[in-house]
Amino acid sequence: MINSLAKGIYKVPEYMNKNILAFGKELFMERIDIKSLNYEELMKAMEQLGEKSFRGKQIYQWLHQKSVESFEEMTNISKALQEKMKENFYIAKTEMVDKLTSKDGSTTKFLFALEDGKVIESVLMKYKHGNSVCISSQVGCRMGCNFCASTLGGLERNLTVSEMLGQIYAIMNISGERVSNVVVMGTGEPFDNYENLVKFIKMLTDEQGYNLSQRNITVSTCGIVEKIHQLAQEKLQITLAISLHAPNDAARKKLMPIANKYTIKEILEACDTYYKATGRRISFEYSLVKNENDSREYAIQLAGLLRGKNCHVNLIPVNPIKERNYKDSDLAYIQEFKLTLEKFGINVTIRREMGRDIDAACGQLRKSYMDKKGEKGHEDIFHN
Ligand code: SAH
Repeated sequence: MINSLAKGIYKVPEYMNKNILAFGKELFMERIDIKSLNYEELMKAMEQLGEKSFRGKQIYQWLHQKSVESFEEMTNISKALQEKMKENFYIAKTEMVDKLTSKDGSTTKFLFALEDGKVIESVLMKYKHGNSVCISSQVGCRMGCNFCASTLGGLERNLTVSEMLGQIYAIMNISGERVSNVVVMGTGEPFDNYENLVKFIKMLTDEQGYNLSQRNITVSTCGIVEKIHQLAQEKLQITLAISLHAPNDAARKKLMPIANKYTIKEILEACDTYYKATGRRISFEYSLVKNENDSREYAIQLAGLLRGKNCHVNLIPVNPIKERNYKDSDLAYIQEFKLTLEKFGINVTIRREMGRDIDAACGQLRKSYMDKKGEKGHEDIFHN
């Protein structure tokens, strides 16, 4: 029965089919990834198993409000039903393999191993106003931005909904902290995994689940124009962040291959559509790279693009990666860039460089883990 369920409700991802032998038939052919089912899907699945719908509700709450990692922990569910659940479903693992905390204690990076052994990176940032978690949306990335460590090995696969949720739930379980903000700014291009991203957002903000406010979610994209338009139609209240990094197409192409596909003009038009549909102010990210995109002239050009828009600019001193020659801009240039934008009435902040002592830039912890794993083997480098 559950096989028809799997077909009807939950599509087995492509990568799982390919690797089915490696994982063991038992795990993926016959069981369903329960944490990727939304509330309605789980209710339907329980119904098909001949169970009462309130059991589905209880189980959904165990998974998404109490973030349990096994059926045994569901103490108001009978042993018999726990067994039945285990036969039909599995709870996807997000297992911590490493954790690094910055000296000031504000930032912790986590490396998580997934069911198939792939490793991803997530970050917990503690601010005065609450805790923010930065999650990955893919294993690797195929966007190829020059200054980014996440893209060096290319894309391995998309993350499932449960793997995106699992990063947040695991961080809460490990740290004992409640999470009030989620930013999809880790490894991967979220709009390259659009369907799972939208389902993830809906489930994270579902009142039967973790019930986070949509306004406390930010999704960062390198600017996949069709998807920005599509997102505008979803009528979500999340914040859209655009990785701009240059004020003209020629300069952008030098840093980001995606600029060969979409012009800045097309991106800004899509942002206007998003703003009109949602009323949400757009964020623009601009990583300052020494002698590349940090001149006063570029700040003036950027101001020309954004003037009059309800938006916010986040200046990020580029975090140099060893595979590239880029350097971060001098502080005087960063301040000057900020002041120039402000003179044109643009909202701008310089992103605090939290946790640089622990390689905070996207994908760097994972990259150094993979490098070391290659050299030394798995067990030598656990920090815990
Ligand atoms: N693919 C998405 C989200 C991932 S990266 C995107 O492009 O927006 C999150 C942000 O960090 C992006 O703005 C990205 O360009 C930036 N970034 C990546 N590597 C960086 C580095 N080494 N230094 C500074 N910013 C970096």
